[in-house]
Formats: sequence, structure tokens, C-alpha cells
Amino acid sequence: MKESNPMFAEVIVDVATENTNRIYDYIVPDALLPWVTVGSRVGVTFGPRVVQGYVIQMKQTSEYPREKCKPITRVLDSLPPLTKELIDLSVWVSERYACHRITAIKAMLPSALRAKYKRVLRINEQTALPSIVLAEEQDIIAYIQHKQKVELNELLTHFPKHSKVIQTLIQNNVLLEQQEIKDKAASKQRLTVIPPHKKALQQYVEQCSSNAKAQLKVLHYFIEHNDEIAISALSRELGITTQVMKAMEAKGWLQIQKREVARDPYAHRTFETSTPLQLTTNQQRVYDDVSKPLSLQQYAWFLLHGVTGSGKTEIYLQLIQQCLDQGREAIVLVPEIALTAQMVERFKSRFGDLVAVLHSRLSTGERYDEWKKIKNSNCKVVIGARSALFAPFDRIGLIIIDEEHESTYKQEESPKYHAKHIALKRAQHHQAVVVLGSATPSLETYYAARRGKENYLGLHVRVGNQPLPPVQLVDMREELKEGNRSMFSRALHEAIEDRCEKGEQIVLLMNRRGFSTFVLCRSCGFTATCPHCEISLTYHRHQHHIRCHYCGYTEQELKQCPDCQSEHIRYFGVGTQRVEEQLTKYFPGIRVIRMDMDTTREKGSHEKWLTQFREKKADVLLGTQMVAKGLDFPDVTLVGVIAADTTLKLPDFRAAEKTFQLLTQVSGRAGRHELPGEVIIQTYNPDHYSLLSAQHHDYEKFVLQELNQRKLHMYPPYCHLLLITFSHEHIDLLIHAGEMLVEHLSSMWQREGNAHQALPQILGPVSSPLAKVKDRYRFQCVIKYLGEAKILKQVQATIDQVKNNINDKHLMISIDVDPQMML
Ligand code: ADP
Ligand code: ZN
Ligand code: ZN
Repeated sequence: MKESNPMFAEVIVDVATENTNRIYDYIVPDALLPWVTVGSRVGVTFGPRVVQGYVIQMKQTSEYPREKCKPITRVLDSLPPLTKELIDLSVWVSERYACHRITAIKAMLPSALRAKYKRVLRINEQTALPSIVLAEEQDIIAYIQHKQKVELNELLTHFPKHSKVIQTLIQNNVLLEQQEIKDKAASKQRLTVIPPHKKALQQYVEQCSSNAKAQLKVLHYFIEHNDEIAISALSRELGITTQVMKAMEAKGWLQIQKREVARDPYAHRTFETSTPLQLTTNQQRVYDDVSKPLSLQQYAWFLLHGVTGSGKTEIYLQLIQQCLDQGREAIVLVPEIALTAQMVERFKSRFGDLVAVLHSRLSTGERYDEWKKIKNSNCKVVIGARSALFAPFDRIGLIIIDEEHESTYKQEESPKYHAKHIALKRAQHHQAVVVLGSATPSLETYYAARRGKENYLGLHVRVGNQPLPPVQLVDMREELKEGNRSMFSRALHEAIEDRCEKGEQIVLLMNRRGFSTFVLCRSCGFTATCPHCEISLTYHRHQHHIRCHYCGYTEQELKQCPDCQSEHIRYFGVGTQRVEEQLTKYFPGIRVIRMDMDTTREKGSHEKWLTQFREKKADVLLGTQMVAKGLDFPDVTLVGVIAADTTLKLPDFRAAEKTFQLLTQVSGRAGRHELPGEVIIQTYNPDHYSLLSAQHHDYEKFVLQELNQRKLHMYPPYCHLLLITFSHEHIDLLIHAGEMLVEHLSSMWQREGNAHQALPQILGPVSSPLAKVKDRYRFQCVIKYLGEAKILKQVQATIDQVKNNINDKHLMISIDVDPQMML
């Protein structure tokens, strides 16, 4: 006779200190069997704690002896948050980007589902109470007994004077401290007032004392609007306290109930419906090419290289429609910064409630609710930033990555994945189509697309055939020679005056807030740097202080040089704040909106500024990169770049590419509609090919020169890079670790007979451009290789070896595969 065996689940536990990708077997108790499946989020005991974990596999048997396997204690969601596809993808992510599996899994979920733990106290039933019990001990025990378990914080608040006593009780094992999972995902509930029938309302009005003015207000409100309303909204609307409603509930005049509400961040907005536009011949050609594999449900990818205003978004919308008609789902990624109301509106007005929006300015709860809509199949299109790529869809037909060259598609913390690679991987699984769109494709994508026969789609004219705006380069060295010491060249100055007179609008770009606003002594050359991070301190005029942008270290502004006592201290370079000041000085009465990290920190502020600018409440929109992207204002006829050099001089092999992209993007802001536009770029390097190509809107020419440079110095796309960063408090130890790694790897590659080959090659160890962060020194090595997976495995193994040899738990070594930022 067959004995019924329990089911087992393989679980990846969320334990930060566990340095392995180990998988643990747990028993699935019969009662939980219907709820536990691949992708479930579960609570399990792990040592003394209860932790969260993810089921990656179900099975009939376990290699572990049965008594060693513990049961799953909780299932945390009614539907598993991850699909089998995503679970499998996590294996690939962890291998491709050298991270732990749990890290890959957590990156796929909204943060509301990531575990938070709370500490709770219970009475330990096993311990006999000490014979002499203090009165306060009795109180505490009684309190906990009554509630069964209490959070430590709550207990401390309730017995503020007895924290010592509580500690002793824990030490003596009278109280047990345990960890529990705190579920942040709990849905939002709100108190809602439910009115009685209209007829009853009339009756209550008659019964109501004429002194109870507030109650009468409520009754009259419901006579007019016989609908449920949140109690808080009603009290705000009528200017009365919620006590009024509670008193009325007590009389039985109305009901107050808890109702679950979906936090829809776009609920207060209505979207006009839009219908598909008749595509131009050029658009139609692109549409047809993508539509072919899409209709056949075959995997394919395309680079859509289209100038700004060439009608890419309209093509996306129509392709999505085709995808939806097939009963499949679509993911659209846009850079965080471009995810403005304007963009969302275009999708919402075409597809209405089928669209979910995911971006970082939503609260954790709002994001979770949007995610749940996807999970519950209420949405078929998700538009969002990087992480939207992990939307738990199971029938994906189309993935679009707009502005694919943006560096925000690369995640800078582990898992350091690139959205493009994940998109291709998911599309292969679903037999879906990927479209990478950009006016200035990244060199890597362009190079790959040009090598394939059918991957490149060009769209080189704007929809209405509007010309791209003329671009003027102004040599700032000449300005200085001619005696113009202001930050505005004569050309820019005149152009600004002209637009203000005509009532047209201006976008000014000052890249990187305060990036170059450093303190310099003109007598001896002293510059103020952060004692912890070794980077220049940035001057903040309004607070009269200088501050480190990495760790926040702050000093008073200097009046005198600390080295030579000279008073010729100058605050060099310009940030957006300084440009704003100069604008108001040189152009009295000019209205400026400044957008940078400082002015957009608050939720919704980004939108607020853009709306004000659209409503023509300002003449100038001044800002960092964030003004360069995706905005579309009909009255902007002048774009000015204060200093192109700030990007050009970044310590990064992509500096020229980034400069070209930024200048092209910002130029695209001018003259998008009837009024013709003009662009003025100020620079100290007017002969550089990236500026000259940007001036002539000549991507191909730029790419040719840049590819030559890359080939010459051996950089991507001609090889792959691996960035290894070491950090520790002591420089000696770091250098030692770095050298050990280099030695091990190069002798290994020599033994393999690669000595005469150029690659793989290891550079460093050298001090990182960010040499010190938060009192830890940083060194780095860069490995150039030809993309073989073997190399990554070798490097990982060697890093483990170095860590073992050095055996210092403060030594951190991290790997970044295909790094975007070389800091
Ligand atoms: P991109 O995404 O390439 O910058 P958009 O899709 O935003 O371009 O198109 C630019 C402008 O042209 C938008 O105002 C859009 O509504 C309009 N447009 C796009 N396609 C068409 C079309 N086929 N007919 C008329 N107008 C169009
Ligand atoms: Zn000095
Ligand atoms: Zn610092």
C-alpha cells in the first residue's frame, strides 16, 4: 500500500548574511498545499528566526532526512507574486550579472513585497517565573499575556520607565524575543460613510435639532449626492469634524464602514480618448517591419533610430494595439525622467484603464496597487521605468524601450542588470518582439543592429517635415578675449532678450547641479575637498556652506584661504542656482523656473514645474539633464547650453557619446511646432567632433569617429568590460588585495596560453575616480574581454579566493558586468 508522502518545496530564503545561493527544502503542510506553488512567497523558520522566502520548485521527495525538514509556516499572498518564467529568469540574472539569486528575485518585486521584520515579545511558557516578582514585572507580564504578543517598541512606549526591567526579563528568558515578517503590502483601507436612502434623509432632517448645524450639513450633502464618500473627504468638504458623522452613526442615521481602496495615482485625472493617426509612409514602413514577426508571434528585435518628432511614439501605440488584439500584453519602458504626465497621458488616452503606470515617484503603496492590477490581469499594458520590465505578465507580445541609450536602464546597485538584456531574454521566452527606440542610439546597440540584416529601422525626418533647428557653437575663449566676462555669450544674451520681447520661451541647460562649483584660492591654487571622499566640495550660496555630494560632509563657506590666508577665494564654475542669479541680474524681470535635484525632491514637484512652464508662467526653464528629455512645448524657440564642457570632461570613456546624446536631445526641444527654433551651445572645446556632429545633427558621422576611437583604445562595442571595485578602511590592504587578484588572473590566463593575445586584459588596480566614500578607500580593476561567460566565472572564483586569503570581513569586492558608470 502506498503511503502518502508530503510534498516538498525548494525555497530561496531572504537572509542577508547568507553568502550563498543555497536552496533549502521545506515540507508543505497539507493545509497549505493548495496555496503553495512555484513563485509563492512564504514564511519559513530559519534557525531561530522566521524569514521570508520564495518557492522555486515543488517536488515529491527530498534528499534531506524528513525530520530535518521544517514545514512552511505561512503563505503570504493569495496569488504567487512570481511566475515560473520569472523564477527561471532569476537564475540567468544571477549568472549574467554575478549576484545572488535572492537579490535577483527581490529586484523583480515591488518594494512593498520585500520583507521587513519586526521584533515581537511573548511570554516563554517553558520558563518558570522567578519566585520574587517585582510589581512592575507583574504589570509587564500581565500586559503581554493579555495581548499574547507585543512589539518591543510598543512595550517600551507603554512602560517608558522600565526598559531595564524589560531587558532583564528577556535576559532571564521570561520573555522570548522573536522576529516576525511585517507585511508592507497590506492594502489600504479607509473609513467610508454610507448614506441612507433619500427618503430617510428627509425624515432625519425633520428630526434633527436646528442647533445641530453640522449634522444638518451632512444630511443636506447626502440629499444632493447620495453616494458613499470617505469620511475624511466629507469632513474636509463640509468643514466639520469626523465626530459629527460618528455621532450620526450612533443614532443609526448613516453607516461607517472600512472599505478597501485601490490607490490609483491617476484616479483624479480624466483622459480624453485618442484614436490612431493615419501613419505617414515612413511610419508605415517601420510599422510593417515590426508587425511581421509580431503577428507571427516570433521573437525579433529592432533598433528604431528616429529623430525626435519623427513619430516613434505613435508607432509604438499602434503596435501595442496590434499586440492587444492578439490577446497579448505589452511593456513600455521610458526613462524615469521622461515619465511625465504628458507621456502617461498619451498611453492612457489610447488604452484607458488597461494601462498600469510604475515609477519611483509613486508611494510604495501606490506602486504595489498598480503592480497588483497587473498581477490580477486587470491591465494589459504597463508603462514604467526600468523595474517595470519584471511585470508579472504571462503572455507578453511586445516590449518597447524608448530612449534606449539612457544610462538609467542600467541598475547601479546589485543586481547590476541592463534592461535591454532582460527585455531580450523575456522576449525570447514569450516569442515576443523588442523595439529599442532612440534618436541617438547607444553605440553598442547601433553596432549590433547594423551587423544584423533586419534589425535596423531608420526614421530620419520629422512627421510634419519641420526642419531640425540650426545649432550655433560659441567659443567661450573668444568671448573672454573680447572682454565678456559673463557666463552668457553675446549671441546667447541677444537671443534671450529677443525671446523675452516676443513672449516666446527658452530652455537653458546647465548640466549637473554644482558639478563644477568648487572653491579655489586664486593666490595659491588651494581647492576645498571632502576629507572623507576626496572630491571637490560644492558651494551652496543660500545656506552659505560648502558640501560634499557623496557623503553630505558640510563646512562653512570660506572667507580666507586655509593654506595661504589670502582673501582671493573664488567660487568657480557654475551650478543651476548661479545661472538663475545671473539671469535675474542681466535680464531684469525675467521669470525663471529652475529644475534640478534640489527643486524636484518633493513628490509631484517635477510635474508642477512643467505645468507652470506650459502655462507660460515663466520665460525660462533652466535645469540639468532633466530638461533635456522628452518635453514638448510649442512656444520654446530657443535652447541654450551654458557649458557643454561639463559633460565632455567627465572621467569616462563614454564622455563624448554622452555629450553628443545630451546636446542632440536638448536641441530636439526647440521648434517642434509652427515656430522655428534655434540652439546655442557655449563651449571651451568648439572643435571637438562630438560637438561638431551634434551641430550638424549628424549621428552617422559622430558614430564613425567614435567607433574609430573605441577600436583604437579597445573599448565597447569591440570588447566587454568588467569593473571590479574593492573597498576598505585601509589603503595597504586594498592594494594588496588588488594586486593579488591581478596576479592570480594574469597567471591563469598565461597558463591558458593567452599570453600573446590582447584579451582578456586586466587594468589596475588603481584608485577609483571616487577614491574615498564614507571613510572607505576605493580601488578598482577593469577587465577587458570578449564576452566569454567563462571569464566571469574565473573572476568570481578568484575573488572568492582573494577574500579567503585576506580573511577580513570589512573588505568588500563587487563586480559590475558591462558597467555604465566608471566611478
Ligand atoms: P517621437 O516619439 O519620435 O518624438 P511623436 O510620436 O511624439 O514623435 O510625434 C511627434 C508629433 O507628431 C506628435 O505631436 C504627434 O502627435 C505627431 N504625429 C505623429 N505621427 C503622426 C501622424 N501619422 N500624423 C499626424 N501627426 C502625427
Ligand atoms: Zn591660498
Ligand atoms: Zn564626502
